[in-house]
Amino acid sequence: MLGLVACDRAPAAEAPEAPAPARAENPQPDSAEPEAPEPEPAPEPRGVPGGGPDPSTLDGSASASIGSPTEGHLASSVPLPTSGPGYVFNPRKDPSRRYGTWELVRAIIDASAAAHETHPGNTLVVGDLSLAAGGDINGHASHRAGRDVDVMFYLQNPDGTPFDAKAIPIEPDGTGVDYKDLTTADDDVHVRIDVPRTWAFIGALVGDERNHVGRIFVVEHVRTMLLEEGKRVGADKAVLERVGHLMCQPKFPHDDHMHIRLFCSPDDITAGCLDTAPIFPWHKKFLKSAGVKASLAGARSTPRPKLTSTKDAAQKKRDEVGAFDPAVDGFLERRKAWAKKPKTGRKYCR
Ligand SMILES: [Zn+2]
Repeated sequence: MLGLVACDRAPAAEAPEAPAPARAENPQPDSAEPEAPEPEPAPEPRGVPGGGPDPSTLDGSASASIGSPTEGHLASSVPLPTSGPGYVFNPRKDPSRRYGTWELVRAIIDASAAAHETHPGNTLVVGDLSLAAGGDINGHASHRAGRDVDVMFYLQNPDGTPFDAKAIPIEPDGTGVDYKDLTTADDDVHVRIDVPRTWAFIGALVGDERNHVGRIFVVEHVRTMLLEEGKRVGADKAVLERVGHLMCQPKFPHDDHMHIRLFCSPDDITAGCLDTAPIFPWHKKFLKSAGVKASLAGARSTPRPKLTSTKDAAQKKRDEVGAFDPAVDGFLERRKAWAKKPKTGRKYCR
């Protein structure tokens, strides 16, 4: 993306393609002679992709989120396996950026598996969580306490076939372009957001009572598309209503990915986990039933990391390459309309 669409992230450096996973070959029998059946060898332990414990064998005691998403850290954490049914940790990203609370890791695994079951054929691309010990992580103002994750939208080619997701800004008509070389239109790749699949993931995430989602940062027009899709497929009213409250557009418009944040778990609250407002009524009720009360993070006491704005990134790139292709300039002009305060009258969220 050449840094054109920095939101709360620094442009990711392109890394070489991840090697294909090794496949076990089915040994062919070398003779058709019937033989006494050999005892089945015990299956090889398959291991967890990327290493680390199998999250399904753990529970909330495996992790502790301390402090706030913007200034906190992780006292202990769980790595998201680099792949699982229906998802992959972005192979362009450093795998040291895939640590979270057990609750977050489990939520990603379960919601992507649920979306995969109802809508097989495409894969959720998961971006940064936190570093193993949390704390400052380059390119983000938050993602420090293991409760934040960036996920790409599911994308498709214009003919509806699946497209390997990457951070491509989605316009209000649901289309997007990977401009690649910004000086020419020759290499442009056109995509669409796969709204039904993206809704399937969000619906599964928020609809799972065990997941205490606090926020979903996403551009206003994608929020609208997802809520319409939820209505169209007859999603549970309470889930739709919650998603409507949870999704909102922050100052960085989040038009090329969603940023999901979980509330502190009751155990973590006791250990010093700090939430950010609003604590929704249904979540207050849940905390009350667990015998705890959320502690809110105060105003930031350390300076907010300086992140590259889209405008600055575009200008820097323009200085480097001379002039952009007119299609890129057209996109940057259109983008001003939704990079500002949403026209719907809804406020920016934090
Ligand atoms: Zn993020």
